[in-house]
Amino acid sequence: MKITFYGAAQTTTGSMHLVEANGKRILLDCGLYQGHRKEAFEKNRNLPIDPKTIDYVILSHAHIDHSGNLPQLVRQGFRGRVFARQSTMELCDIMLRDSCFLQKRDLECINKKRRKAGKNPFEPLYEESDVEALMQLFTPVHMHQPREIAPGITLELFNAGHILGSALVQLDVRSDHGHNHRILFSGDLGQPDQPILRHYEYPSGADILLVESTYADRYHPSADDVELRLEKYLKHIDRHNSKLLIPAFSVGRTQQIIYYLNRLRERGKVPREVKVYIDSPLSQKATRIYANHREVYNDEARRMIAAGQNPLEYPGMTFVGTPQESMALNDTPGPMIIIAASGMCEGGRVLHHLRHCAEDPDNIILIVGFQAENTLGRRIVEKREQLNVLGETVNLRARVEVINALSAHADRSGLSDWIREVKDNVRHAFAVHGEPEKVAAMAELLKDLGVPSAVAPQPGQTYKFD
Ligand SMILES: [Zn+2]
Repeated sequence: MKITFYGAAQTTTGSMHLVEANGKRILLDCGLYQGHRKEAFEKNRNLPIDPKTIDYVILSHAHIDHSGNLPQLVRQGFRGRVFARQSTMELCDIMLRDSCFLQKRDLECINKKRRKAGKNPFEPLYEESDVEALMQLFTPVHMHQPREIAPGITLELFNAGHILGSALVQLDVRSDHGHNHRILFSGDLGQPDQPILRHYEYPSGADILLVESTYADRYHPSADDVELRLEKYLKHIDRHNSKLLIPAFSVGRTQQIIYYLNRLRERGKVPREVKVYIDSPLSQKATRIYANHREVYNDEARRMIAAGQNPLEYPGMTFVGTPQESMALNDTPGPMIIIAASGMCEGGRVLHHLRHCAEDPDNIILIVGFQAENTLGRRIVEKREQLNVLGETVNLRARVEVINALSAHADRSGLSDWIREVKDNVRHAFAVHGEPEKVAAMAELLKDLGVPSAVAPQPGQTYKFD
């Protein structure tokens, strides 16, 4: 058996690992690499594997850095099956179509300039027809129900507590020579006390562990802090009739913020009816899918429902429809909260809000998620004086605040806690999904916790197991 680490190796995005066992080639995730546009495009277009040779894909969850290159896999000849939870399939359907839309819109702008300069236009990585073809290949997998996907290869999924549908992937491989292995892939591991979703689980018995490292060297502040700080920002925008702009992933983070705003309102902490605009058609669709899958909710979310409250509905909350309605918010007086995608400010409607809001020191830009290197979001976190937004130079004068406790990723203590519970049989561990210093910290942590062999693989590196 062999494992090759093609994506999310020494970096956070583009999750893609190839397991070769019993004559089958199985991809764990097929995500988009995100970063500098040109580099990202080249990396995403030039797949490191021949898609025609892949038998199956197992998808840990729907985030684009884990699922976003699947349509291209299909475009380049993949015809196997994609195993994932039902809710992950539903989310992929909307998210990958959105990815097509974003690419198209992004390219229109770039190609206009390229044509003027006499250069050939770029093509999108894939189109909606590829997403449609992909959706035919999805095969839903129920939690905690082992499924033999090929002779001697059994798949079982467990809760990962990261976003709706997120799963820990366990693969049992039995060979004819009696060399059996159990692989456990964390996908993205959630925070233990995350709102709405249930806690991650601790599958036992794996001898090979692939674990994410996003925050392997950091501790998040406690979640109580989130409500206190949100309350403070609400007061600020109330006083200044200004705007609180929250760039957020449509899936997961947006629903968490709605949930926290509800909690604040429940405690009478919202100064007056501050309007909340959810400015992303994708967020609206994702919130509906979240609302339809109550079977995954944790006790607190169930308590709110039993008490007659919907944790995902906030009075005064408006889903913004057309781009015109979105632009109209620029001239609408505050106080208001605008939650808009994309989470790393690499596209989406958040860009025109940024262009409009960033120069006013009364506004607050609140960063609530991880910002990868080379993204506009990262430059905002670094409080650069000037930003390039939609081709224009914008002076960053708005207050920039960062809340890390909202992260959908476990921090060092959450990761340690999880590893301690699953590590008893682990012989080989691989730190993935993190920038170089994070995966190095994870490899050290694994060794400190007593795992005999722990490494941070390089992109394209293969490991063989007897
Ligand atoms: Zn994720």
